[in-house]
Amino acid sequence: MIDNKFELGFFPTPIQSLKRLSEKYPGYNLFIKRDDNSGLASGGNKTRKLEYLIKQALDNGCDTIVTSGAQQSNHCRQTAAACSVAGLECNLLLGGDEPEKYQGNLLLSYFLGAKLHFSGESRKGELSQQLIKQVEKQGKKCYLIPYGGSNIVGAIGFVNAVKELKLQISENNLNFDYIFFASSSGGTQAGFMLGIEMFGIATELIPISIDKDETNGLRLEEVVLSVVNEGIQLFNIARKFEPEDIKLNREYDKPGYGVITDNEKFAITELATTEGILLDPVYTGRAFYGMLDYLKKGLIPKGSNVLFWHTGGLPSNFYYADKLK
Ligand SMILES: *Cc1c(COP(=O)(O)O)cnc(C)c1O
Repeated sequence: MIDNKFELGFFPTPIQSLKRLSEKYPGYNLFIKRDDNSGLASGGNKTRKLEYLIKQALDNGCDTIVTSGAQQSNHCRQTAAACSVAGLECNLLLGGDEPEKYQGNLLLSYFLGAKLHFSGESRKGELSQQLIKQVEKQGKKCYLIPYGGSNIVGAIGFVNAVKELKLQISENNLNFDYIFFASSSGGTQAGFMLGIEMFGIATELIPISIDKDETNGLRLEEVVLSVVNEGIQLFNIARKFEPEDIKLNREYDKPGYGVITDNEKFAITELATTEGILLDPVYTGRAFYGMLDYLKKGLIPKGSNVLFWHTGGLPSNFYYADKLK
């Protein structure tokens, strides 16, 4: 299952030591995993999910993809790019109304040839079935990718990412006590949990929640649990997961999705000026701030090896420029 994919990215993505940043937060050995360099139209974590989702779409004989997100969705931009590579039509259902000016990810999705549909109030695929009906009237065969690509098929991308990490750990004689990352639609977190269970890596996940809103009536914790439980069946894992097994830090999502505060600005500047690595203001900036806060407050033991999993998102900086400076 793990090997049944349509290749879209450059893997393994590199792991770097954050030497200068570690000096600023004494007692911690900080590392970063560069999924922002996954190679697909400026990269990001959705590339991993799309390798499995696009494969299934092609296997099912579909010629058209439908997916959804915010106008600055990195998932939608990478899906549009994946469709270009695979020769599929791409339909994006994007929250809000059509803006006068296309910027950031929206501009890139447009370059990548996606058909753009604006869905007003909803940004999480609530109108997908309507759009599918409309597209199928034109004789197309649609494959629906859920919001964020977060079903079990997409999550396999992160099961495979754990396999990739395990190899890097053994080749480089590393170990990571903690892995911090931005969690939002749940597929990344669910895939990590399943992968750790399957490949036996000794690490603790610290997922930082980015979005306080529900998705189609479900809280993020519920989405993660349901995808994990699907994975348990699919991979024949002899363990049951309960709601209390789903760890999620909600400390930093309170301002709301895509609302930029001093936290995100601080995190972006801190990493940029110590290591020359760029974050984004919606996901990785918020999660990286969360990690720095843990280090400052000593919430994890000194001496720990800490990995930040960079999930991408660079293009939205240009859309949020006015709020960032
Ligand atoms: C989508 C996304 C995430 C969150 O991943 P999920 O699988 O949706 O939880 C994190 N960072 C970036 C940059 C993203 O685009």
